[in-house]
Amino acid sequence: MSAVVAEALCAGYGAGPVVDAVDLVVEPGEVVAVLGANGAGKSTLLLALAGVLSPMSGRSRIVGSSETAGLAARARAGMSLITEERSVFQRLTVADNLRLGRGRAERALEIFPELVEHQHRRAGHLSGGQQQMLALGRALAGMPRVLLADELSLGLAPKLVRRLLAEVRAAAQRGTAVVLVEQQAARALSVADRAIVLRGGRCVMDGRSSELRDRLSEIEAMYLSGGTTAAHDEEDDVGAPR
Ligand code: ATP
Repeated sequence: MSAVVAEALCAGYGAGPVVDAVDLVVEPGEVVAVLGANGAGKSTLLLALAGVLSPMSGRSRIVGSSETAGLAARARAGMSLITEERSVFQRLTVADNLRLGRGRAERALEIFPELVEHQHRRAGHLSGGQQQMLALGRALAGMPRVLLADELSLGLAPKLVRRLLAEVRAAAQRGTAVVLVEQQAARALSVADRAIVLRGGRCVMDGRSSELRDRLSEIEAMYLSGGTTAAHDEEDDVGAPR
């Protein structure tokens, strides 16, 4: 059974749809990147997949829960959502943040041993990269069936981004279905199996990462803005299937 399904999904914030008739299927063990420029509707799509936003029309569903399920029910069914705001409790310690997760704190520290020495610091005092490791480690320790991650790479150095994306890939290898929202197309394509490109809330392109990587300059020129070049991101390859 597919882990994530969207069918003709329209969603938004009251006026017209921001996400417009999007179809998406993600299988267990698969990473699908959602690409698009600022305001293309990527975060809105993720919120609709997570059950935070109800569809205006169409459907979204994750494995183990109904299409009308909200965020809490989808989380109980094994979905983990990492929002753009970094999903950590700033005033709690790293250890307390991990205790609040679904999985074992020890498992999160195995995934990101970089956090061990910071266990007793408040999350708000960590660097951006450490906070993102905390958010991702806590999510992955719960062995989610579905991981929805928004802009993991935002504001982080390439080395850290590689580190985070490598763990996303490893989670997929353990069977997690991943939807990865990214503005940095080359980076996302280096870890994803497939990708869709949104423009104005509509899916204007989709395909296997290897195909889209070959057309990266064209995609960036037509659909993305402020993207990095293919040449720059070659070094960021984290070993996705070709
Ligand atoms: P970014 O990379 O900048 O986050 P995005 O592709 O994720 O862009 P969204 O955040 O989904 O795009 O925004 C799509 C459109 O929806 C934008 O026009 C934005 O202004 C609008 N929007 C986003 N959040 C809200 C909200 N809470 N209320 C009303 N409109 C919103």
